[in-house]
Amino acid sequence: MRKIGVLAVQGDFAEHIQALSKLEVETEEVRLPEHLSDLDGLIIPGGESTSQSRLMEIYGLTTPVIESVGNGMPVWGTCAGMILLAGKLVEPHPVPLGLMDTKIQRNAYGRQVDSFETDVSVPCLSGGDFRAIFIRAPKVVSVGSGVEALSWSSDGDIFAVREGHMLATSFHPELTNDLRFHEYFVDMVNSS
Ligand code: GLN
Repeated sequence: MRKIGVLAVQGDFAEHIQALSKLEVETEEVRLPEHLSDLDGLIIPGGESTSQSRLMEIYGLTTPVIESVGNGMPVWGTCAGMILLAGKLVEPHPVPLGLMDTKIQRNAYGRQVDSFETDVSVPCLSGGDFRAIFIRAPKVVSVGSGVEALSWSSDGDIFAVREGHMLATSFHPELTNDLRFHEYFVDMVNSS
């Protein structure tokens, strides 16, 4: 039985755990380095990337997460998680984990009132468009050649990226009842 951890220092980790439970996947709330030891995959949830970054540092999680993912543990970041996984940010804070070959801009679609929902096409998921919830969402400014776009708008904005065992979405599948992105990540974990 595979076990997926969800970084649980801040943000909407409970929603990810609920989605994984619906898929009958064993989960673990990750707050301390020892919680990473028997995991097959990790999710970094939506929330506030500066708070998550600071709390990860306080709990001694930053280096262990970088090492685990660097050693091949599948990871998925949603929204703030996409920011933390980035190679580079446009902003000086937080310092991202530097795991993906991406450059990301925080809050690129406006402030909280400008949060929005829209249907996006995700060709790798069967069953039609995905209802995407964007909350102070980051924008993918650029990606390296090893990064595959999984979803993009007609004007070229990228909403979801995959780089080998690493996945990131600028929106929040955990806030919908659509489990297809969670299934996609569970498949990544199962095939790793
Ligand atoms: N804007 C937030 C940040 O910079 C991310 C928002 C979210 O995760 N919904 O961390």
